[in-house]
Amino acid sequence: MSDHLDALLHEKRIFYPPEELVKESNIRKWMDERNIKGYSELIKRCEEDPEWFWDELAQELDWFEPYTKILEWNPPYAKWFADGKFNIVHNALDRHAKGWRKNKIAYIWEGEDGRRRKLTYFDLYREVNRLANALKGLGVRKGDRVSIYLPMIPELPIAMLACAKIGAIHSVVFSGFWAKAFKERAIDAGSKIVITADAFHRRGKLIKLKDTLDTVIDDIPTIEKVIVVEHLKTEVDMKEGRDVFWDDLLKGQEKECETEILGAEDTLFILYTSGTTGKPKGVVHTHGGYAVGTYTTMKFVFDIRDDDIYWCTADIGWITGHSYVVYGPLIAGATSILYDGAPDYPDPGRLWKMIEDYGVTIFYTAPTLVRMFMKYGEKWPQDHDLSSLRLLGSVGEPINPEAWMWYYENIGGRRCPIMDTWWQTETGMHIITPLPISPLKPGSAYKPFPTIKADVLDDDGNSLRGEGGHLVIKTPWPAMFRTLYKDEKRYIESYWSKFPNIYLTGDVGRIDEDGYFWIQGREDDILNVAGHRISTAEVESALVSHPLVVEAAVVGKPDILKGEEIAAFVILKEDVKPTQHLKGVLREHVRKEIGPIATPSYIGFVDDLPKTRSGKIMRRIIKAKLIGEDVGDTSTLANPEAVDELEKAL
Ligand code: ATP
Ligand code: MG
Repeated sequence: MSDHLDALLHEKRIFYPPEELVKESNIRKWMDERNIKGYSELIKRCEEDPEWFWDELAQELDWFEPYTKILEWNPPYAKWFADGKFNIVHNALDRHAKGWRKNKIAYIWEGEDGRRRKLTYFDLYREVNRLANALKGLGVRKGDRVSIYLPMIPELPIAMLACAKIGAIHSVVFSGFWAKAFKERAIDAGSKIVITADAFHRRGKLIKLKDTLDTVIDDIPTIEKVIVVEHLKTEVDMKEGRDVFWDDLLKGQEKECETEILGAEDTLFILYTSGTTGKPKGVVHTHGGYAVGTYTTMKFVFDIRDDDIYWCTADIGWITGHSYVVYGPLIAGATSILYDGAPDYPDPGRLWKMIEDYGVTIFYTAPTLVRMFMKYGEKWPQDHDLSSLRLLGSVGEPINPEAWMWYYENIGGRRCPIMDTWWQTETGMHIITPLPISPLKPGSAYKPFPTIKADVLDDDGNSLRGEGGHLVIKTPWPAMFRTLYKDEKRYIESYWSKFPNIYLTGDVGRIDEDGYFWIQGREDDILNVAGHRISTAEVESALVSHPLVVEAAVVGKPDILKGEEIAAFVILKEDVKPTQHLKGVLREHVRKEIGPIATPSYIGFVDDLPKTRSGKIMRRIIKAKLIGEDVGDTSTLANPEAVDELEKAL
């Protein structure tokens, strides 16, 4: 069986980045300036002296007062640049607004209905200052929590930056969440203020966010004020004394506001994880190290330059949006696209049209979107000129080789390397990722970022090669989370208990003979079939490699004999008939690709799969449905209708 497995997972193809791109890349230039010949020498120097590397990058940022120590590592607690005086907003905004980037565009915003807004660094600066002054006026002080429940409109980054500017802690909750999910998070954070909007459009439908919030607001005891952005100017109920319109609040506010001088280790935000595996965790990030980590990866992984038009399609409501829509790009002084709408609305050409319209050069998205566009077909991107693109990115899930190839050929025109970035809410920044100079294997996230030591271990802590095991990180990195909010115990138990002083990611990975990492999915997603460990991602990858299949979710069904049986839910390409015969064909296909042991005992056809807000399949819920258990907490689900879909297939 393992031969087949290898054939499937071990991609032999290698794709080299164009020579010109390598030569011009930030990382190559940086190495040249330091007389570092190649990648292996870079890694060697970084391993010998990680603090040297991070110190050099931290020096590219502005410090109110310099740090004297780079890292203090008392596992599981790291402090970075701890005695430095710092504020991330000074770096993301103030210094640009007062320098030559003043009139450079920070965000090009487009709404689903086609409306556009452009904000320069100076525009952003003044809006942030006005809100920051208003928040102070409402009594918000350093360390206070502010919940932000906004769609992808410019007021969302403005609100985040205004909080950070005065030392308040923001906690953004995805606007696609239900009220209950918002409530739980705001209660956990103990927020004083909520910033929300009247409504927004999704797929042409009006989503009334303030009304949603109203259904739970009285259950959140700490809330004093609700600030409402009139985005679409729809009718909303305003509670006297508690609710205030953004515009009214900002009227007459000063356009200058002192940026709070903070310690590098002061808390910047709390962000709850996707909740793919259970109750979401309140991940805590700080100003200094997080700024250095996101800036450095923007520079070296995404190769950001001043003439780039950069677009990360992630919602700001999850970590990719925090790190690579807001903080990373702004610190780097980039111009970014902000799109508030569905990616395939009004038609599947929407994103490709926007890339053409704005001349996007760097495009970062998720495998689930790539697979969705595969389903719609090549014709949509082919209708548009995508030649401005230089670099592509992927994040959120393993990208199966088929999707990688489709993305590489149809979007990147075989000229744009794909940065498949593996990381987590907890890591704050890319951890296992290619650089623009890396030779790529489709489906592999390449190797750890310079200075970081990652490994794959068996249960006893021995390093594994060629076999799947626990993916761990053995060295601290600047953007690492510092704790789980109000849950120190869970911080230690979930991440630092299995192996002493080693960070347990909760994912399963494999390292091949060239040192490439292959992420196989979450620990919880590993099936035990008759004593064999089979990852759901492997079986899904095999199913998706069949030409009629678009997407698949695989879960284990408890079985007295085998331990677990494999059940697969499959989305077929448009216009393909779901027949009994096709089930047999797919079973045979998996058998050929992986082996008899991985053949699904059960296949169901569905139109949709339950996913988290960040587009990840919720196998936990599928499994509960399958075995007739209570589906539990579904508050992090983006498409609850999909659960009924499963019902039909069963
Ligand atoms: P929870 O921890 O609450 O269950 P979550 O892990 O889905 O939710 P995130 O922090 O948003 O929340 O996601 C991080 C996870 O996403 C990683 O642990 C990994 O499983 C997956 N992931 C992210 N990027 C990649 C990638 N490039 N390749 C493979 N998997 C990835
Ligand atoms: Mg996680």
